[in-house]
Amino acid sequence: MSKTIAINAGSSSLKWQLYQMPEETVIGKGIIERIGLPDSISTVKFGSKKQETIKDIKDHTEAVQILMNDLIDLGIIADYAEITGSGHRVVAGGEIFNDSVVINDEVAKQIADLAEYAPLHNPANAAGIRAFMTLLPNATHVAVFDTAFHSTMPAVAYRYPVPDKYYTEHGVRKYGAHGTSHMYVSQKAAEMLGKPLEELKIITAHIGNGASITAVDGGKSIDTSMGFTPLAGVMMGTRSGDLDPSIIPFIMEKEGIADITEMISILNKASGLQGISGISSDMREITASWEAGEARGVLAFEMFVDRIKKYIGQYFAVLNGADALVFTAGIGENSFFVRKAVIDGLSWFGLDIVDDLNVVGADGIISSENAKVKVLVIPTDEELVIARDVEKLKK
Ligand code: ADP
Repeated sequence: MSKTIAINAGSSSLKWQLYQMPEETVIGKGIIERIGLPDSISTVKFGSKKQETIKDIKDHTEAVQILMNDLIDLGIIADYAEITGSGHRVVAGGEIFNDSVVINDEVAKQIADLAEYAPLHNPANAAGIRAFMTLLPNATHVAVFDTAFHSTMPAVAYRYPVPDKYYTEHGVRKYGAHGTSHMYVSQKAAEMLGKPLEELKIITAHIGNGASITAVDGGKSIDTSMGFTPLAGVMMGTRSGDLDPSIIPFIMEKEGIADITEMISILNKASGLQGISGISSDMREITASWEAGEARGVLAFEMFVDRIKKYIGQYFAVLNGADALVFTAGIGENSFFVRKAVIDGLSWFGLDIVDDLNVVGADGIISSENAKVKVLVIPTDEELVIARDVEKLKK
């Protein structure tokens, strides 16, 4: 019996999914939230059952220990040794990692050292990895990088027009994110369209709380909207996306913000849908406000759609035309309002949407049969990609 656990560790959370491999059956999944805060919550779902435990969990190491104990106590596994692989989503792989790798001490250190590029995420990823390496010394541990799929971008796309040495000496370039998701949905789109991926030009729109759009040519990412960090690109739940950098010192002076870290935090956590609407970062609440005709909700919704449309337009140019557009992630999969508003503004490009297909729970093609560019909704599954990569790299 071989089981693989896929781990997605955030700064204060740890999401996991346990698979029976190679069958790819999910036998349990859960999330530990509020790590490092009082009253951390661990939720475990298995079969039709659900358990929720509230207790203080001080760090990721303790979270992993609690998770493993839960798996035993709930009878999901009988012995730690049943888990022969762990796969870890790592946010920043820099220019070092172009693909998933088996983690040894050196790789673990490199991941921790890449914290400069993802200060909130890589330390959490590294802590999760270390905890699993300690608890499961005989398992294969694999790192799956959010940036790896974008390593095929050409320099013309990934370089910023700033002095050369910022790149050559400090690695300032576009790295992108959500790579695992963009890769998964582009491959799945090719399957659904019944065409070889190598022959397709696809624009993938991963629109969740974090959002990014990617231009995929023949299965390879050639441009993506997130940048040096996930702050760039389209407007998001709480992130601004692209803006004129001159705004930063201007606002700092006007608002008496002395610390640049605080300013960056405002752009990451208090901007986007949240900042414009003043209501929420959650698209469900924004949509309700938009439907009710509330001015700030309407503006937030329309700006959100506008930024997505513009990036899709850019990528039609980058790809010199496209065969398909894919929507995925929380908003892309669920919000038919956002999908419709985006597509309605892109009819000149040969996009359309069939209202009867553009529904809650849509999965597959939602454009008309004769549409020049197919529009698809594909639920992403980053955990499955992680589990598959572990299986592929297992000793
Ligand atoms: P992340 O993984 O980046 O935190 P998700 O991919 O889970 O985010 O997406 C979260 C977003 O999806 C939220 O804005 C939420 O409102 C939106 N969402 C989830 N379900 C729906 C729905 N039924 N209708 C509209 N938006 C939805």
